[in-house]
This record gives sequence, C-alpha cells and structure tokens, in this order.
Amino acid sequence: MSALGKILRESIAHDGPMPLDTFMAVALGHSQHGYYMTRDPFGAAGDFITAPEISQMFGELIGLWAAETWALLGAPERVHLVELGPGRGTLMRDALRAARVSNEFCAALDVHLVETSPVLMQAQKDQLAQVAVNVTWHASFDSVPDGPAIVIANEFFDALPVRHYVKTQEGWRQRLVGLDAQGALAFGLARETEALITADAPEGSILELSPVSQLLMTQIARRVAQGQSAALVIDYGHVETGLGETLQALKQHRRVDPLAEPGEADLTAHVDFAALARAASAAGAQPLGPVTQGEFLMRLGLAQRADALKRKATDAQAHDIDLAMARLATERVGEAPGMGRLFKALAITPPGAPVLPGVVRSAGS
Ligand code: SAH
Repeated sequence: MSALGKILRESIAHDGPMPLDTFMAVALGHSQHGYYMTRDPFGAAGDFITAPEISQMFGELIGLWAAETWALLGAPERVHLVELGPGRGTLMRDALRAARVSNEFCAALDVHLVETSPVLMQAQKDQLAQVAVNVTWHASFDSVPDGPAIVIANEFFDALPVRHYVKTQEGWRQRLVGLDAQGALAFGLARETEALITADAPEGSILELSPVSQLLMTQIARRVAQGQSAALVIDYGHVETGLGETLQALKQHRRVDPLAEPGEADLTAHVDFAALARAASAAGAQPLGPVTQGEFLMRLGLAQRADALKRKATDAQAHDIDLAMARLATERVGEAPGMGRLFKALAITPPGAPVLPGVVRSAGS
C-alpha cells in the first residue's frame, strides 16, 4: 500500500466515501505524495511518453502554428504564450526555437507556464534556461495576466479529474471511492440518485463527466472571446459525447488498477472534445475542429519538416525521423498504436476570426 493509499483510507474511514474526481485530484496532485508532485513520469523508463518527447518536430510545428496564429489575429503588440502542464518544457523549447522565423512574433512574446509540480517546474526551468524570452510560472490559469494570449495544452486535459455516474434501476448514481470489508479502497455507488441527470440509457451504463475541464475551458474561452487570442488543445479523446468510462491507470507503460497504488500510477481519462467545444461556444468563443492529430500535423507540414531534417541525417537518424513521424501522425506503427487518429486537435478563436492553420471550421459554427 502506497503512502497516499494509507492517507486516503484513513480519510474515507473518517469522512465516508469520496467522489472519483476528488480521489483523482488527490492521487495526482497531493502536495507531498501526488503522482505529478514527486516525479518526472516521461520517457522509456517512466510511465508514458508524449508527442514532444517523441520528436522535436511536434514542438517546432506548434511554434510555427503559434507564430502564424498571432499574425492572423492581427499581430498584437504584446502576446502571452501560455502553456498548461508543460511537462519537461520540451514542447516550449522546440516551439520557441522554430518561432525564431518570425522576429516580430518573438519580440511580442511573454511566456507563461501553468504547472503545479515542483519537480517538473524545475525541469522546465533547466530546459528554458537559454531562451531569450521572459518566462513566468503560475500555479493556475487564473493568475495569467489579461491581454491577448495564445494558450496551448498538450496532454493536459486528460490529467484533469473525471466523475462517473452509473445507471441503476432507480436512476443515475455517482460512483464513489470507499472501503471494502477488508478496508481496501473499492468502488461503490452513492445512495441518492442524481435528479439533474435525465439521460436515458440501459442499466449499468456509465456516464463520465469532467466538471473541472468544463470550467477551465469556460475560463479560457471567455478570455479568447475578448479578442486577439486563441487556444489549442491536443489530447486523446472522442469527438462525440457518449456513454462508457475511459479512466485508466498507467505504470511503466502498463495498465494497472486505478485504486491499487494511488500516487504511484498516472491516472487519465479520454477528453470529451464535444463537451469542450460546447463549453467554448457557450462562453462566446468559436471552436475550430476537432481534427485528428495526424491531419493537424500533416496540414502544418510535418512531412516537409521530416524531409528537411532527413537531408542532414545519417541513415539511422533518417529511419528514426520516419518512425517518429509515423508515431505522431498515423493510427498504427507495426503492432503498436500510433497517436495519429486517437489524438485530436481543437482550436478556439474569437467569433469571426479566420480559420487557424491545421484545423477546420466546426460543423454549425
Ligand atoms: N504537456 C506535456 C506534459 C503532459 S503531462 C507533454 O506533452 O509532454 C501533464 C502535465 O500537466 C504535467 O506537467 C503535470 O505536472 C501538469 N499538471 C497536471 N495537473 C495539473 C493541474 N491541475 N494544474 C497545472 N498543471 C497540472
């Protein structure tokens, strides 16, 4: 039993079962034992690997996207380039290097990184020590100053807590984390039903919602709607809201039981892009997409960037570049799943702004 497992069991024994989103927030963010607070989870030796860690091309294309987006938004004199959950800082480092193609954009930039993990904040400081722009860290998006902003979130929303509701004969009941007869963490259901959830579904169906994600998207979209701003969310997830649960726990690239070792395994859920797009529209912004990550990167010129890198590469390096491109932009790479189709990109702009690079106008917007 992990240190955090013990704390959670004691808390439940004292206060009763907790909603899944509370459990997830503690497992990932507990100030002492939370998963992200204590480690660098990335890479082959870690628990998972993300697109910027697969290839420099990913961050570079996002940097070019940001520079072009800034120009399309009317080239505001100052712009906040905000990244939510920057991990090791690799995406931002590669993006800023590529963005040097536009001196005007670089001169307008202030970088803001929103990060809660002290370990990863240090990694970001090391990674960005050499960059020539001003970088400020924030514990939450709320403290990023007003003004034109370009907000980037890669594999961030999947780490935000979700709630589950289960359809029973009497109605929808929230799933709770409680204790079983042996005192181990176990899933159970709330006694009361949820009067506000009226969706019709067969008994046993599960509804997965992320109120925290919806709230954050609302805050971002309100700012974007004020003008000369945009946001880009890239993550794995689905384009339509549906039934079913997608919560998963990963440790050393393997799936484990989400309740087994809280704080020791990464917990994520698929992002509901339709719900995010609805939150953005409701807050007055215009959603663009989502499109698959494969389409997004190919439209931004991934193949051309790979060719340019290969011209200066050895045969072995050229092979790695092709492999990275396949992992980023296609559905399967041999036996392994690629990120090209499961991952999606959703952009948001003020209403009436031009379509941004890589994405398309959403149906109905
Ligand atoms: N974007 C990076 C890292 C993804 S992992 C990449 O693509 O490699 C998720 C990141 O979000 C980590 O940096 C983690 O510490 C951070 N994070 C998770 N929950 C957070 C929260 N509630 N607020 C701020 N940062 C958070």
